[in-house]
Amino acid sequence: MKAQRTTAGAALPRTPTTHAAHAAALDADDELAPLRREFELPSDGRRRLTYLCGHSLGLMPRRARSDVRAELDRWGRRAVEGHFSGDGGWFAYHQRFSAPLARLVGAAPEEVVAMNTLTANLHLMLVSFYRPTAERYKILIERDAFPSDRYAVQSQIRFHGRDPRDALLELAPEPGSWMLDVARLEALLAAEGERIALLLLPGVQYLSGQALDIGRITSLAHRHGCVVGFDLAHSIGNVPLALARDGADFAVWCSYKYLNAGPGAVAGAFVHRKWHGSDLPRFEGWWGHAAERRFAAERAFSPMPGAEAWQLSNPPILSLAPLAASLELFERAGLERLRAKSERLTGYLELLLRETLGERCEILTPAAPSQRGCQLSVRLQTAVAHFDGADRDGQDEPARHDGPRGTAEALRTAGIVADWRGDVLRLAPVPLYNRFRDVLAAVRALRRVLE
Ligand SMILES: *Cc1c(COP(=O)(O)O)cnc(C)c1O
Repeated sequence: MKAQRTTAGAALPRTPTTHAAHAAALDADDELAPLRREFELPSDGRRRLTYLCGHSLGLMPRRARSDVRAELDRWGRRAVEGHFSGDGGWFAYHQRFSAPLARLVGAAPEEVVAMNTLTANLHLMLVSFYRPTAERYKILIERDAFPSDRYAVQSQIRFHGRDPRDALLELAPEPGSWMLDVARLEALLAAEGERIALLLLPGVQYLSGQALDIGRITSLAHRHGCVVGFDLAHSIGNVPLALARDGADFAVWCSYKYLNAGPGAVAGAFVHRKWHGSDLPRFEGWWGHAAERRFAAERAFSPMPGAEAWQLSNPPILSLAPLAASLELFERAGLERLRAKSERLTGYLELLLRETLGERCEILTPAAPSQRGCQLSVRLQTAVAHFDGADRDGQDEPARHDGPRGTAEALRTAGIVADWRGDVLRLAPVPLYNRFRDVLAAVRALRRVLE
């Protein structure tokens, strides 16, 4: 059977058997399918799990194991000399990530650096880019910002002696909607733009899965004289990005979601070229100091060119090593091919959800591929209300929960890994390792769970 390209709007087969054959044919036609073998696939001991949770923690590339072992071996055999062994050693280790990361975010290698963790990088960027004055001191975030981003921004505002109740502005979605709307942002900027120092917005919103138009937002913000930074936690490795061309001032991301670098892996930051060599204030450490004179014990700080100037410490090599395997897979697959598969996979998920669950499933994520990555966020009408033991006196009952939490638990019992936030269930078929078959299995399980 010759498979058709499945996109949203295409027709699906009618019977369960032809559904399975259809999914199998789509997999057979997928030139990226062999990449799945490069990952370790989670299991619960009895069976392999169907994993649709790469938006939270990406799967482990097989090569990560030997890459980490190689650094352990280097440490064991070479000890301190490992800093300068043959391939550059640990001294320059982080630099091998700049070019592939730059390709993922659409930047030049000197505009990106692998360092720290996301929230730490966000603070470092805010130190440089949030410079409140008497007239212009507000920060604009979205109403449903990720908690860590909100805490970072609030504490920076207080650090500058101001009150977040006055200095923190929130962009809310249209009432009754989940979508962040550029027209609302435009109105907010028209009213408050002169008082806004900085905007911090997501590339892809973590709850709704909505992808924002970074280029449009950036030019709007700049027109009002505001600095603009993006949190790319759910964007990098998921949607095409062009930070340099779009002119974003800074961006931060983590590496354990779509970049598959493992829990707490070393994150990254982007600083646009126009800010390199500027007089921005910065919190500094010796790894940001000119590499060739890093051991010279100079008293004055002499910054590395580009984003590397923001580094503080010598990086945790064991948390950086697993990133290489995944970046190599991105290079091998090619971003365009990955994105094309991603649109087909997510379109297939959308179609199956609509057909199988109909009215019982509300898809919050926009339907237009340009406005989303691979994740679909859904709200489900569940028939039965189950006792929720966890919210009373902190005792976690093994009993089932109501709402999306209960649904995620029941899915897990059926061998499907997804997750929930608030009243939203999140499902993300990841083009590097998920199959059309996985999507079909998940939707079938969901239908059984809701029955
Ligand atoms: C996952 C995520 C984070 C995580 O922050 P860490 O510092 O890596 O713990 C932050 N912001 C957003 C939007 C995220 O999705």
